[in-house]
Amino acid sequence: IAPTPYYYTQPNEARLLLHQRDRYSNKGTFGHALLLAGSFGKIGAAVLAARSCLRSGVGLLTVHVPQCGYSIIQASVPEAMCESDGHQTVLTGTSRVGGPQPVTYTTVGIGPGIGKAPETLAMLRDLLPTITRPMVIDADALNLLSENRELYSQIPQNSILTPHPKEFERLTKPWQNDYEKLDLLRDFAKTHRVVVVLKGAHSAIATPTGDVHFNSTGNPGLSTGGTGDVLTGVLTALLAQGYDSVEAAVLGVYAHGLAGDVIADQRGPIGMTASDVIDALRWE
Ligand code: AMP
Ligand code: MG
Repeated sequence: IAPTPYYYTQPNEARLLLHQRDRYSNKGTFGHALLLAGSFGKIGAAVLAARSCLRSGVGLLTVHVPQCGYSIIQASVPEAMCESDGHQTVLTGTSRVGGPQPVTYTTVGIGPGIGKAPETLAMLRDLLPTITRPMVIDADALNLLSENRELYSQIPQNSILTPHPKEFERLTKPWQNDYEKLDLLRDFAKTHRVVVVLKGAHSAIATPTGDVHFNSTGNPGLSTGGTGDVLTGVLTALLAQGYDSVEAAVLGVYAHGLAGDVIADQRGPIGMTASDVIDALRWE
């Protein structure tokens, strides 16, 4: 009988995935991540992703934001470096020579709060072919892809995509029931050779080989703005530290949900914020 392609991530599996820190490490050991995030009115998404990236063990972090986010990032995330391509309100690779330089980074994460401006689409178009390593793609970066499907073939192999159900429907098509949804999920991951995290209660992680890992942590307290941006920061940090894409997705989604469960235990799920989730992240 063929082995079943379905897995369920529980505490033991997650613990086995966690890398131990080498005593003789330095910040270079844990990678330099670049986060492309934010637009006017949504710089908070960049702040949340940056903070969670740092709380998940990245060695160094550079956040690339529109000019309107520059001082905000510098003041609210002092551990991160910050750069802007000079446009006031949206990300664009065109107004500064070269735009962001992904080749110098271990890992790139893109999407939280970026919006769908034509300049931002142009940046995404220019960026994708220059990236040779797996990246994290979330939120409006996914929506831009779904509106420009010729770009699917440009997604770096083994990248992690983190759609919520509506974003996944835009990337694919509407489904009639959960079986169809699961088929679409596995097909998408196999066809485009990516890891897809379909978020929600029991997030489902599909791998390029067609396996599906269901997550066991998380609760409805996480149904609040910004928790997805936190997950993007977590996953970007894990890729930067050298986790492979499937391991990063399985461990990151588990740890993110567990942080939500810790908060819910302490004071109930209602009123949980994305910032609370960052504070409750634990890596042990
Ligand atoms: P986003 O929709 O991008 O803000 O992401 C929401 C995050 O919260 C994802 O990581 C979801 O898996 C998580 N989440 C939302 N609602 C629930 C729920 N009812 N149970 C568990 N996790 C949830
Ligand atoms: Mg989101």
